[in-house]
Amino acid sequence: VVDDVTCAEVVELITAYLEGRLSGPERARLEAHLGECPGCVTYVEQMRVTVAALRTPSPDDLDGPAQDDLVRLFRDHLRGT
Ligand SMILES: [Zn+2]
Repeated sequence: VVDDVTCAEVVELITAYLEGRLSGPERARLEAHLGECPGCVTYVEQMRVTVAALRTPSPDDLDGPAQDDLVRLFRDHLRGT
């Protein structure tokens, strides 16, 4: 059974997940990973906030930097720190 999502896959799936575009099985696999990986839970929650913020009418100070911080934070998670 190939049902274990890696942290790297979470990065690839996160946007579709937050937008509700994952199929049922994909979402179930991702959520199973979140159940075992606090680092990815944090990442998902921060992405959710970031995505919501980016959709507000005044995104002026929310383009590059917020995303960069997230990517850096998640790279630390992948390194196991
Ligand atoms: Zn993870």
